[in-house]
Amino acid sequence: MSERREGGSVKLSDITDSTVDALKSFGAFATDTVQPTVRLGVTGLSRAGKTVFVTALVRNLVGDGRLPFFPAHAEGRIERVVLEPQPDDDVPRFRYEDHLDGFARERPVWPEGTKRVSQIRLAIDYTPRSAMRRMLEPAFGRARLNVDIVDYPGEWLIDLAMLEQDFAAWSARALAAGEAPHRRDAVASFRDFVGSIDADAALDEAVAQKGAALYTDYLRASREKEPALSTLGPGRFLMPGDLEGSPLLTFFPLPAGADAGSPKGSLRAAMERRYESYKTLVARPFWRNHFCRIDRQIVLFDALAALNSGPAALGDMSQAMTEVLKAFRPGASTLVSRMFQRRIDKILFVATKADHLHHTSHDRLEALARTMADAAIVRAEFAGAEVRSMAVAAIRATREAEAEIDGGSLPCIVGTPRKGEKVGDTVFDGETETALFPGDLPADPARLIRGDEGELPAGAHDVRVLTFLPPRLTLETPGGKRPAPPHIRLDRAIDFLIGDKLA
Ligand code: GDP
Repeated sequence: MSERREGGSVKLSDITDSTVDALKSFGAFATDTVQPTVRLGVTGLSRAGKTVFVTALVRNLVGDGRLPFFPAHAEGRIERVVLEPQPDDDVPRFRYEDHLDGFARERPVWPEGTKRVSQIRLAIDYTPRSAMRRMLEPAFGRARLNVDIVDYPGEWLIDLAMLEQDFAAWSARALAAGEAPHRRDAVASFRDFVGSIDADAALDEAVAQKGAALYTDYLRASREKEPALSTLGPGRFLMPGDLEGSPLLTFFPLPAGADAGSPKGSLRAAMERRYESYKTLVARPFWRNHFCRIDRQIVLFDALAALNSGPAALGDMSQAMTEVLKAFRPGASTLVSRMFQRRIDKILFVATKADHLHHTSHDRLEALARTMADAAIVRAEFAGAEVRSMAVAAIRATREAEAEIDGGSLPCIVGTPRKGEKVGDTVFDGETETALFPGDLPADPARLIRGDEGELPAGAHDVRVLTFLPPRLTLETPGGKRPAPPHIRLDRAIDFLIGDKLA
C-alpha cells in the first residue's frame, strides 16, 4: 500500500521511505534464504482471543501438545522446538511465560489481552520428508524453520486506510459514518460540539483537546454497542498502546470549510497537521516495521459474541473482514517496493472459542466463518493469497455431556462460569461446575448473515456465551512431560500456517 499522490508529484521524503522499506524487505529476504523464516501475523479485535491463541500455539509446539491433525508432528518429524531471541530488538516480546504461569495457578486465570504489538520466535528443528533434503543434511546442517509470531491489535489495521486519505477525505468519511441510524445516540455530543465551533478561528488548545476527547468517547461507545464494527478509526484512539495521552491523539474530523484552504494558525490547520503527523509517526511506521513484513496472517474473531448480539452484528463483522482483506490486498506501490515487498500468501480466519458450543455445532460454526469470509473476499475483490476459515478453541475450557430431559437427551457443555455470569435468574459464583445447553447454530449460515430475523427459526441465534474459567495447566509433570492445554482444531490451524514449510 502506498500514499496516493496528488497531481503525480512525488516528494523526496516518499522516495526515501519506500527505498528504506524495500531495503528492509530485501534484508529480510536475504536472511531468510540462509535461515528459512516464516512471519505469522496474529490479529483480531480486542477480546477476540489473540493472546490465548498465541500462548496455546507456542505451548503445544514447545511442550508436549496433542496435535494429530498436524502431520509433521503426528509423523514424529518434529525433533525439537525452542524459543529463540526474536530478530527485532525494538519490539516488546510476547509475554508467553507470564501467560502460562497464569494458567498454572491454583485458580487459573486468563491472560491480559493484547494491547500493543509484541513478538516471539520459535525455532523448529525437523526431519524433512524429502530423502534428498535429508541426504544434504551433513553439508547444510539440520533442517530448521524459524517462526516469528507477531501479535497486534486489529484496531491498528484501520489506520492503514488513512495512509491513502488526506484530512479532508478522512473527515468526510468519518463524519458520514456517524450518520448511520444506529450510531446517532453515541455520536450526539461530538456532533453538537463540532456544530458549535468555528474551525477556521484561531486554534484554542482546549477546544482541540475537548473535541478529541468527545470523538474518542464516541468511538469507544460505538465499539461497545457494536463490537464487530471495527472500521471506525483512528485505531490508536481505541487501542492507544504506548501512545496513551500523547499529543498525537489530539485531533478529530471536521466538516469541509467554506473554501478549500485552511487559514494559518486555525483549528483546521492544526487538525490537518496532527492528522498528517499521526500518519507519518504512527500509521506508516506500523505498516513498514510490522505489517508489510508479514508472510501469513491469522485473523481471529469472536463470531459467537457477534451472534449473541443478533444477525445484524454478524453482517457488520463480515464487513469488518472485508476491510481487513482490503488492507492485505496488494496496493499500488512504487517499483522498488513492489520488487521487494513480501507478499502475504495465506490468510486464516478463525472463529474462536468453539468450546462454547457442543461439537455437533462445530462444523456449523466453521460454515458460518466460511460464509462470512467468502462474502468478504467477493466484496474486497481479493485475490492472491490462499484464504481459509476454521472454528477453533485454542484452549478448551469446557467438556461435553448429554443431559437427560423428558426422556430425551440434550447435548450440553460443562464448565465453571466466571463469578457474576448469568443465565436467566441464575448468577454463577465462579466455583460451581455447571452443565449448560449452549444453543444450536442453524444449518444454513447464510440465513444468519442476511440478518433476516423474520426467516430464522425461533431462538436460532440464541447462543449462550459465557466466560468460563480456564483449565488448570501443569507446567511440568514428575516424568518431565510439559502438557499443553486441551484445544479444538488448533492442530489444523497450525498445519495450514506452517505445515508446508516443514515438508
Ligand atoms: P485478545 O484481546 O484478542 O488478546 O483476547 P484474549 O486472548 O485475551 O481473549 C479474551 C477472552 O476470551 C479471554 O480472557 C477468555 O475469557 C476468552 N477466550 C479466548 N480464547 C478462548 C478459548 O479458546 N476458549 C474459551 N472458552 N475462552 C477463550
